[in-house]
Amino acid sequence: MRIILLGLPGAGKGTQAKILAEELNIPHISTGDILRQASEDRTPLGLKAKEYMDKGHLVPDDLIIDLIKERIKREDCKKGFLFDGFPRTIPQAEALEKISNIDKVINLKVEDEVAIERLSGRRTCKGCGALYHIIYLPPKRERICDRCGGELIIREDDKKEAILKRLEVYREETQPLIKYYRKKGLLIIIDGGRSKEEVTKNLLGSVR
Ligand code: AMP
Repeated sequence: MRIILLGLPGAGKGTQAKILAEELNIPHISTGDILRQASEDRTPLGLKAKEYMDKGHLVPDDLIIDLIKERIKREDCKKGFLFDGFPRTIPQAEALEKISNIDKVINLKVEDEVAIERLSGRRTCKGCGALYHIIYLPPKRERICDRCGGELIIREDDKKEAILKRLEVYREETQPLIKYYRKKGLLIIIDGGRSKEEVTKNLLGSVR
C-alpha cells in the first residue's frame, strides 16, 4: 500500500503516521524528519535545508525530489510506504507520479485554530523525535522524554512567527494538492480534530 498523508502542519500527521505505518508494516517516510536529521548531522543538504525550515519556508523542490527518489529505491519500500509531509507542492506531486503509483491520499483535516494550538504547545524529543504537548500529552517529567530520557525542545519552526508562515505556505503551495488528488479519485478526508484514538481508528478503517 502506497499512501500519502496530507494536512496542515499540526493536523497530527506525524503522530498518526507513526502508528499507521507500524500497523500496516510499511515505512513511515517523513521528509521533515529526514531533513531535521540531515541538519543535525550537518550534511550539505541539512545545512541548506535548515535555512528554509527555521523560517517556516519550504525547502526547494529539486532537493526534496532527489531525496525521495533515493529513499524509495531502498528495499523496505518494495512493500509500500507512507509519506508524511511529501508531496507539498504540485511539482513534487508531478515528479512523484513519474517514479511511483499511489494508492490512497488522505487529507487529515483540522481548523487553523486547532493547528495553531497544537503546534504552539508541541514539544519534541531531541533524542528520539517523540512528540508531546504541554496540555494534551505532557511528559511525566517536565522537559524530559518518557521514552528515552532525552531533552524536550520547541522546534525552531514551532515558534509563533514560523507557525503562521507555515500555515500561509500550506494554503498557497500545498492546498492545491487536495484538488489535484481528488480529480484523480484518490482522496479520502478524515476529521483530524477528533481524539487521537478516534483518528487512528478512522484512518485504519479508510485504508484497510
Ligand atoms: P514537517 O516536519 O513535515 O512539518 O516539515 C518541517 C519543514 O521541513 C517544513 O516546514 C519545510 O521547511 C521542510 N519540508 C518538509 N517536507 C518538505 C517538502 N515535501 N517540501 C518542502 N519542504 C519540506
